[in-house]
Amino acid sequence: MDKFSVLSQYFGYSTFRQGQERLIDAILSGHDALGVMPTGGGKSLCYQVPALLLPGVTLVISPLISLMKDQVAALNRAGVDAAFLNSSLTSEEQFQVCRLARQGAYRLLYVAPERLGAESFLALVQGLDIALVAVDEAHCISQWGQDFRPSYLKIGDFLSALPRRPVVAAFTATATGEVQRDIVRLLGLRDPVCEVTGFDRPNLFFDVLRPADKLSTLLKLLRDRQGRSGIVYCATRAGVDRVAAALEERGFPTARYHAGMEDEARRQNQDDFQFDRKPVMVATNAFGMGIDKSNVGFVVHYNMPKSLEAYYQEAGRAGRDGESADCILLWSPGDIATARLLLESSGNEELDEKTRELVRRQEFRRLDAMVGYCRTAGCLRGYLLDYFGQDHPPACGSCGNCRGEFRQEDVTTSAQMILSCVVRVRRHLGYSVGKSLILQTLRGSRDARVASLGLDRLSTYGLMAQFPARQVRELIDFLVLEGLLRVEPAHSTLAPAGDAALVLRGERTVTMAVRADRPREEPAGGRRKKAAAPLPPQAEGLLSALKATRARLAQEERVPIYIIFSNASLSDMAVKAPRTREELLQVSGVGEFKAARYGQAFLDAIADYQRCRKDEHLD
Ligand code: ADP
Ligand code: MG
Ligand code: ZN
Repeated sequence: MDKFSVLSQYFGYSTFRQGQERLIDAILSGHDALGVMPTGGGKSLCYQVPALLLPGVTLVISPLISLMKDQVAALNRAGVDAAFLNSSLTSEEQFQVCRLARQGAYRLLYVAPERLGAESFLALVQGLDIALVAVDEAHCISQWGQDFRPSYLKIGDFLSALPRRPVVAAFTATATGEVQRDIVRLLGLRDPVCEVTGFDRPNLFFDVLRPADKLSTLLKLLRDRQGRSGIVYCATRAGVDRVAAALEERGFPTARYHAGMEDEARRQNQDDFQFDRKPVMVATNAFGMGIDKSNVGFVVHYNMPKSLEAYYQEAGRAGRDGESADCILLWSPGDIATARLLLESSGNEELDEKTRELVRRQEFRRLDAMVGYCRTAGCLRGYLLDYFGQDHPPACGSCGNCRGEFRQEDVTTSAQMILSCVVRVRRHLGYSVGKSLILQTLRGSRDARVASLGLDRLSTYGLMAQFPARQVRELIDFLVLEGLLRVEPAHSTLAPAGDAALVLRGERTVTMAVRADRPREEPAGGRRKKAAAPLPPQAEGLLSALKATRARLAQEERVPIYIIFSNASLSDMAVKAPRTREELLQVSGVGEFKAARYGQAFLDAIADYQRCRKDEHLD
């Protein structure tokens, strides 16, 4: 058997995706590997294919229990012997898995990182022939990354405790250069073959809205997406409860998830979502790492997250099946304040003071980039790709900003007021001050500090008293983005920069692109670069029949529908309308094993459907 037959027989795919083949070849030829690929890029296959070809077992280290369960269920359905070991199993079950593992019954064994230090596990692995250790979500090893997990640091020791060092391969979706270096160093990868594929997810539509009323905007978004599955992320537990209650009240079957809920309730909600009993999940960022649900059609952020890494990872849970999906961020200036507060009050206790301070500064830099995303008038996809260091065309033509309408507003006068205030305060005091003091001066605040510094005697005092504070603050932020003001790193004070002098002399105008504020009726749909082509009408009908068959099988086997076949597979099947097993195998995502297990049910459904249509014509 070679990698191509494994790909088609077990997974039902005819070609590898970008990056997969190179990593698989590396692993098969005994090299360590590092794969950085976007969510949904197909990282699992990079170790699953070698696992089926290498002698011995592949250990997969994976951070979350539900994720393992899902992956193992999917593998078993594809005819691959796999199991997991984690605390969700009874000791009886664990014993059973260990026994079978020792007998060589599994091609893949998934374990949680916490387990690596356990005596019983170390005893087990001494007796195993381990060909490959695959570390999933490898960025968890780096304290610079988003989800630092101290237990990941044990992996290095674990590897050295093995009788024979296996090939080690690490995978992640989010890794800046810094995090990649951490992964290589801390896992002790030996001269790894690195594959960093693009971060772009062409099937995702990105948009940023700043609605006056978030809830009614959310309701509108959900109504336009009835019948699709989606996640709504909120920044806090209270937010989750509030939004979920509001949706339920209006008749949307809603699941919810946050760390403050009882385990059992959380599990139940997660299941309801996973099995599409409740298509909408409202959750904090505690939800998701363990979720492999591939048919998520939209991710709405009800609040701005604290970094673009977090945003891209959460938003990236949409459209893993390759179908077009929407990632919409709703934000308000209050979100920025909340995010700052959360960062101020957090801090990893396991780090020493100095490191903690470094991490904190890093986090504030990340937050600034996130705020920039909310405010940019440029291409949103481009902004994201820039952040992750990837080249891209200047405009994607298919994100909210590329499609949205902008008004160019001349803000020269306001810019002059702000800049001259910054200059005057600086001249008056002999040093620079921060944004809030500038804001107070411009708006004529009666704050004692303003008076005690004598700022109320400046000619710019109260110059913008008639502007709402929010607007002045925004203008200041805009001038920073434009490079007319500089935020000095030491104390976040403001200083004039770039062309500021030209603006003050009236030799340069300043225009700000303002997204026409009419609520955009329909942020998504029908205008994406790579949206799936619409199905021909007869295939639409067949697709519904196939979905019904899938739902029935999923019900019988008590698994989520996408574990049977993905939407992409069913669409392909509806178009090809296979009549024989051979034809069925040509459908994307249909491998030998699934064809044997489910093929007849789908072939029957297709035959039935076509017979009914013929009858209709005869009538
Ligand atoms: P990641 O872990 O990188 O986020 P997954 O491994 O979960 O992504 O894969 C995402 C989806 O892509 C899965 O449904 C998987 O079956 C599918 N997939 C992976 N490789 C291929 C391929 N070569 N051809 C078609 N689909 C693929
Ligand atoms: Mg994965
Ligand atoms: Zn764009």
